[in-house]
Amino acid sequence: MEEPGAGDSESDDARHERPLSGVAADALSAMVDVVVETEKMAAMLAGMRAEQINKSRRLAELSVRVVTSDGMKPWSQAETARRTLLSELACALRLPEVTIGKLIYESQVLVEVLPATLGGLQVGAFSYRHAAIMIDHAMSLPAEQRTKFESTVLAAAALLTAAQFERKARTVRERMDPETITERHAKSVIDRRLQVENSRDGMAWLQLFLPATEAHAIYARSTEIAIALQNKDEQRTLTQLRADVAADLLLDGGITGRGEFAIRPTVTVTVPVLSLLGHDDEPAILDGYGPIDLDTARDLVAKAPSLLRVLTHPETGVTLSVGSGRFPVPAGLRSWLQYRDGTCRKPGCNRAARRCDIDHTEEVQHGGWTTHNNLAHMCPHHHAEKHHTGWAMKQLAAGRIEWTSPTGHVYFSEPDIVIRT
Ligand SMILES: [Zn+2]
Repeated sequence: MEEPGAGDSESDDARHERPLSGVAADALSAMVDVVVETEKMAAMLAGMRAEQINKSRRLAELSVRVVTSDGMKPWSQAETARRTLLSELACALRLPEVTIGKLIYESQVLVEVLPATLGGLQVGAFSYRHAAIMIDHAMSLPAEQRTKFESTVLAAAALLTAAQFERKARTVRERMDPETITERHAKSVIDRRLQVENSRDGMAWLQLFLPATEAHAIYARSTEIAIALQNKDEQRTLTQLRADVAADLLLDGGITGRGEFAIRPTVTVTVPVLSLLGHDDEPAILDGYGPIDLDTARDLVAKAPSLLRVLTHPETGVTLSVGSGRFPVPAGLRSWLQYRDGTCRKPGCNRAARRCDIDHTEEVQHGGWTTHNNLAHMCPHHHAEKHHTGWAMKQLAAGRIEWTSPTGHVYFSEPDIVIRT
């Protein structure tokens, strides 16, 4: 039976038509459910990962043995265990050691301090991001207030977006925090620092988005002045000094109490000589950054030749071996190795080769030669680690290095540039 006025109901129908047909709506609805379900599983897996990482940490602390080589003073058992696990997980997951350090810390907190948050993750009630926000705020409170804070905000984690939850957690935390803002600021100011972060296309952030050459030069100059200011009476760390130097330079154009400071910025660019002459288009390498365009590099060389170490062609006339025994590494071989390695050779480490030691892969006392395929750059941090934990390294062909962890896992470090020998 027709309603009155059914004749002109066509436009009404169009207006009320569902945006999806029944079949498509059902299919899309099912797909959305699957996405929600996978996300829930990701949270549950993150909970499982936290438990597993914390178990590994405890096992490492109980079982890793203190070792040492090359006559170095051994690390403590706790430090050896921590570094062994950190280093292994960083290689296995191909993540920076700082990220892994954070993950180990968060896992321990979830298991030992915030079990209700871990429980929420394990049933997929909220994401790992929510859990990390909980950890961050809870751990900034005194130990006796953490459980109360957790129970106060936990329900909100399952209802709010991560950003909303962060605001909520921060508000609750502010109310519970017995320290005044003045006290907290005094603590935070200790963490002041200058940071440079690489970006694409020859650019880098100093929170001034600049050409990488300029950003690195500012960072290098601040570091050099900071080093010059260090003395036995100076209480500030190098990190704090560097930040203070940059702030003084930007605010006053000079260093407080020191008048004009004569240190000029330096950056180091390696340009293959054939590229500089225009016979080749191998890019120039800015230390601590990577490849930059040749025009910028040529410009730098023209303007400030004294500031640039450059120009060896790696395939010509370098003595690659000095013989069996411990000999000083000649300058030519040193540049050749720097060019090959680019950075510290521990997988994942980005410390520029220029600021690393050259290490004999097989120790001289065990018959190792001072030769290109038994030498590799190692930053002080990883150099020490090699001697204090059970990592073993072996040089393969073409600058490839095989690393075997104390657990027997094998990882490879590729050279920055493959040089024909
Ligand atoms: Zn390193």
